[in-house]
Formats: sequence, C-alpha cells, structure tokens
Amino acid sequence: MNCNKKNDTNQQTNNQVSLTINAKQITAPDSLSVIQALWHAGYPQVKGVGCLDGVCGSCSVMVRRAGSTELKMALGCQLLVEEGMDVFFSVFDTPSQHSYELSEINTSWDVQSEFRRIFPEAEKCRHCDGCNQACPKGIDVESGVDLAVKGRFHESGELFIACVMCNLCMTGCPEYIDPNHVGLFARRVTGYFHTRPANLINQLEAIRTGELSVDTGEQQP
Ligand code: SF4
Ligand code: SF4
Repeated sequence: MNCNKKNDTNQQTNNQVSLTINAKQITAPDSLSVIQALWHAGYPQVKGVGCLDGVCGSCSVMVRRAGSTELKMALGCQLLVEEGMDVFFSVFDTPSQHSYELSEINTSWDVQSEFRRIFPEAEKCRHCDGCNQACPKGIDVESGVDLAVKGRFHESGELFIACVMCNLCMTGCPEYIDPNHVGLFARRVTGYFHTRPANLINQLEAIRTGELSVDTGEQQP
C-alpha cells in the first residue's frame, strides 16, 4: 500500500485518472490524495476538520484497486488516487466498550489484573492478523495486544506510538478486543506508573537535597 505523498516538486505527474469515491465518479490528477481529489471535484473544504497529515485518523477509507477484489484500509489524506480505484470512506460507529480510571489502580502490582478485568477479550486473540491488515500506519497491532496480555506494557505501548486511533483495527477484530484501546492502556499505565522524565526526577532530587534552590517568588518572613 502506498501511503506516502509524492514529492510535489520532483515527482508530480499530473496524469488524469478516473476513480470512484463513495460510488461517485471523479476525475483528478494522480498527484492528488483522495481528500485533495474530492476538493478538486468541487466538494467543499471544511476548515479546521482533520489534520491532512496522517496524524488524526479521521479520514480512514477502504480502497479496492483496479483489477483486484481485495479491500485494503488506508487514510484518505495519504492515499494517492489511481486509475480505476474504488474508495469508500469508512464511517463506523465504534465506541470502545472499555472504560477505566487509572487513578483507581492502586499500585503497579495491580496493573496486570486490572488489565484482565478491563480487557477480558484480549486473551482470546486468535492471532488472525486482521488488525495488522487493517492498520494504515503499519503497526504490528497483534504483537502489541500479545505483549499487553503478557504484562509487557512498556513494550506494547512502544508499538502503538504511531497509532492515530482511526479504529480500523477495532472493526477488523473478530473477538471485539479493541486493540487500539489495549495500546492506549499500555501507554497510559507505562506513563502513569513507570516513566517519569529523568531530568525532572533529577531536578526534584536536587531540590530535595538542597543542591538546587528554587525561587518561588514568596517573601521570606
Ligand atoms: S492501531 Fe488501530 S487505531 Fe491505531 S492506527 Fe492502527 S488501525 Fe488505526
Ligand atoms: S484482529 Fe483481534 S483476534 Fe485478530 S490478531 Fe488482531 S487482536 Fe487478535
């Protein structure tokens, strides 16, 4: 799947291609992304909605390329239009079924049991690769879920760093695991219980030992 915008100055070709977007026939230069092709076809630009840079995950699409029956997932802002392509914006109502408060997890010793309570489905992962296939950011989602199930939250969270919460992995999961929310949980608990910035810790320690003084602006008696 080509998810990279072409370099505007060096590789712009401007060949016209015909494709369908949400079943509407559109003609646009092949240097444009799906979103830009919609604008090119006269669809209104709504300002302040979407990042247009592959970060917000709001423009997830399903795409079927010419001559293929396979449906792939992508982000409309990063997918370049091609001749004969069919694109469908995915509008899924996918609220997560999981809710929790980190402040209610008493210590890091409880994280694993809390994870099992909050995400009981995660252990039922079929290792079917569906979430990996669905992810437009190329994240190894399945391994991220597996690491979380094993209690290796730091490593799991690292895998989900590029996640844009587009929810496509949720829609592809036959066990309703909400893999992206597993990843978010892993990142949150890692930050909450384990990793605080080393420079902050060092400075607080220096203040505690008197090595560093802080001017709080308060008048001394
Ligand atoms: S992990 Fe899931 S929510 Fe995150 S980018 Fe990939 S498909 Fe989207
Ligand atoms: S789609 Fe669901 S069941 Fe399949 S590998 Fe991913 S998390 Fe596991």
